[in-house]
Amino acid sequence: MPIEILPPEVVAKIAAGEVVERPASVVKELVENAIDAQARHIRVEIRGGGRQEIRVVDDGCGIPADEIERACRRHATSKIRSAEDLTRVRTLGFRGEALASIAAVSHLTLVSRPAGQAVGMEVRADGEEISRPTPRACTVGTVVVVRDLFFNTPARLKFLKTPQTEAAYIHALVADYALAHPEIAFQLLSDGRTLLRTNGTGRLFDALVEVYGLESARQMIPVEDELGEGVGAVRVSGYVGQPSLSRASRRAITFFVNGRRIRDTRLTFALEEAYHTLLMAGRHPLAVIGVEIDPGQVDVNVHPTKSEVKFAEPDRVFAAVQRAVRKALQEHTAIPRVAGVASAEAPVRRAGRTPAPIPARGVELFPEEAVPPTGTAEAGLPPLRVLGQLAASYILAEGPDGLYVIDQHAAHERVLYEQLLQEHAQRAVRTQALLNPLIVEVTPLQAAFLEEQAEELERWGFLLEPFGERAYRVRGVPALLAGKDLQNTLGPLLETWSNGVRRGVPWEEELLIAIACHCAVRAGQLLSMDEMRELVRLLEKARAPRTCPHGRPTMILLSQQQLLREFGRR
Ligand code: ADP
Ligand code: MG
Repeated sequence: MPIEILPPEVVAKIAAGEVVERPASVVKELVENAIDAQARHIRVEIRGGGRQEIRVVDDGCGIPADEIERACRRHATSKIRSAEDLTRVRTLGFRGEALASIAAVSHLTLVSRPAGQAVGMEVRADGEEISRPTPRACTVGTVVVVRDLFFNTPARLKFLKTPQTEAAYIHALVADYALAHPEIAFQLLSDGRTLLRTNGTGRLFDALVEVYGLESARQMIPVEDELGEGVGAVRVSGYVGQPSLSRASRRAITFFVNGRRIRDTRLTFALEEAYHTLLMAGRHPLAVIGVEIDPGQVDVNVHPTKSEVKFAEPDRVFAAVQRAVRKALQEHTAIPRVAGVASAEAPVRRAGRTPAPIPARGVELFPEEAVPPTGTAEAGLPPLRVLGQLAASYILAEGPDGLYVIDQHAAHERVLYEQLLQEHAQRAVRTQALLNPLIVEVTPLQAAFLEEQAEELERWGFLLEPFGERAYRVRGVPALLAGKDLQNTLGPLLETWSNGVRRGVPWEEELLIAIACHCAVRAGQLLSMDEMRELVRLLEKARAPRTCPHGRPTMILLSQQQLLREFGRR
């Protein structure tokens, strides 16, 4: 084929393909326009998963009669004037192509009326054809109706999922925006049924209740932190779920940068790292995190749907998010941790003290009636009455809210982990001298590590000295390990350490986890009632009793309500 310039309608369809991937993309653009127009109420109505019809109604500033025709043209925008403006955009839109792109692949109707205008104006756009504006009676604001999406692009149509699935995407999207803008009242209707409604109170917690339900919202922890000042300042705010609220996917992780919903794998990674040891492998937290930075510090023009951004100083932003989340988790779940390893401002709290109360700053974010006055569910256990042992592996216990099935190994691991951590923090790890010192062979890497860390290891209860080139003599071990099969315990411990050193993870934490794991009662071990009571008593005192150091749950609760339901009493 000879080279030809493509006709405008083909160009338009190609361009539209970048912006409009599925019905949810249309909703995204229209909702963003409504937010840019300072709307206080935004209603989204969809039919047939949005393919048949999408209608977005807002009470924002509206479009003046003499501009409405232009609004649907490509590269028509009221939001920037020059390329320079790109470095300081505060609006969500700025490319001036959403309406044009949507019109290229659907039948679009736009009705709008600014406050000062007596009557509204309507234009219809089909591809490049835009009708002449005609007067229409309407309230102040804008209505955009998009019908028969992809009617002229069969390839796109083929890739759409079922209407229910497309509706689910739209639901997730509107929910995200409702969380990003608690000051706006959102409503979403699918085939006439209300899927979501927020009140626009301006309080994020209220929006969380609408999106995730009161039960989940109550288990979320406010995040609020600021790193640096001036143009370099990074402000992080939002809510994160307690570890007990985890999900199997990352779908409940939402990030906003200056009010813009974005995807960023490194931000997600930073967030999940903050949960280190608290979540089981394969589980992901719930989170709504807003990042506010100077618009000059972020390039929003790197993606046609503007769902990815580029930070001038990415590491600072990631660090800020991680620190903020970690702080929040520490304040509210009192995660025990190895002193001096992760961060200086995280002192190890002594076990047995009552959990720290929610700081006043956190309380302000909650509506008074919606939150239990003390701490969080994660912070402590109710008193439990041991009923017996199941399968020589689980302790059954009764609590005020139902039946607890406790994994004896995981529970004991948690108890030992915290005990050792506390002893270490107080420099009080007890060492048991060995009558018959043990000789362990080591690799050169392990030897170097042991030499380097000899002093610190002593603080953990290990007395070690070199024994020839390739071996170490173990003269003492933490009292917890006394009586254990040391020959078989120390080998794996050394492995863990040297692995930890290689991967750059804090080896103290690895060590602690390994010791706890080696010393805890095993599954399959019969326990007496007294032993179980003692273990449960210690677990009640633990700071994070519901997860083991690996992040797995130590217990499950069969609630009274579940029992009632299962037995058909409710
Ligand atoms: P962009 O948002 O990038 O400017 P769009 O194609 O989405 O481009 O919209 C074009 C213009 O139409 C916007 O700049 C804005 O002036 C106007 N507009 C679109 N939607 C609305 C709305 N809901 N309320 C007020 N003005 C709107
Ligand atoms: Mg726009």
